[in-house]
Amino acid sequence: MQGIDLHTHSNISDGVLTPEALVQRAVDLGVHTLALTDHDSMDGVQRAINTAADHDIKIIQGVEISSQWSRPSTHKNYGVHIVALNMQHVECLEVVLCTQKHIRAQRAQQICEKLEKVLKHDFYDEILQRVDGHADHITRNHIAQALLENRVVNRLQQAFDRFLKEGKPAYVGLNWIDLQQTIDAIHEAQGIAVLAHPTRYGLSATNIRYLAALFHQLGGDAMELPPRSEKASTRQMIDRLIAEYHFDVSVGSDFHGDHLPWAKLGQTPVLKDGQIGVWEKFH
Ligand code: AMP
Ligand code: MN
Ligand code: MN
Ligand code: MN
Repeated sequence: MQGIDLHTHSNISDGVLTPEALVQRAVDLGVHTLALTDHDSMDGVQRAINTAADHDIKIIQGVEISSQWSRPSTHKNYGVHIVALNMQHVECLEVVLCTQKHIRAQRAQQICEKLEKVLKHDFYDEILQRVDGHADHITRNHIAQALLENRVVNRLQQAFDRFLKEGKPAYVGLNWIDLQQTIDAIHEAQGIAVLAHPTRYGLSATNIRYLAALFHQLGGDAMELPPRSEKASTRQMIDRLIAEYHFDVSVGSDFHGDHLPWAKLGQTPVLKDGQIGVWEKFH
């Protein structure tokens, strides 16, 4: 337990805890440096900072930005999540986040329209209630949860496998801002651009290597270490890429709540010799 967790979610996106409860939980677990990184929204960060004022914990400005990149040889767009940390000028991210929220709200409606066609059931209003009317907070996780509670699927993962992931009937193509724009906006805000969970995009090793090279070329700063549950050979591949491109390293649990027991708040991987934690550059 190193007391640092730089990738977490609250109920501002698809996490379960409120920003206040998340900070309280982190304090109880001995976390001293925490970033709240909701999907495309910083709406919870000030609330987290306010709660932290009564405790011995530092809140780092954060957000997980949905982005996309392409590989000319495959003519295909790939999704990627960039965790932005420690912005000194958060107002510089406002336009990007506003655009992303608009895309997110529209996409939720489009996904629900597709679901209605195949399931003859309209989920949109029900999902909107779940996010207290904030359509721009809706993630595919919320939609998966509605499918689960309506017994369309038996497990959350099944909702992705049968309906929501690429190639499935309710998938809506990527429309997020591209990787270069994402990195540039983070830098304008004087933040650190971290490539989140590089092993969780279902990419081949060749494509992970391509993405790492591209991220480096476009000015990306750091890579997130895969969780300890990842295969040793996969973790070693990421360690080699970190060394090759001299990336700094970030650690985060990607905590969403106790319903996803493999991502526990505060449980983050340990750095290898020679790796430099992004927090060393926080001020
Ligand atoms: P969204 O940003 O709306 O596409 O939703 C992303 C969230 O959905 C992620 O943070 C995960 O929590 C979850 N998610 C995305 N893809 C999958 C998948 N294939 N299986 C399970 N959960 C997923
Ligand atoms: Mn999520
Ligand atoms: Mn993510
Ligand atoms: Mn996340």
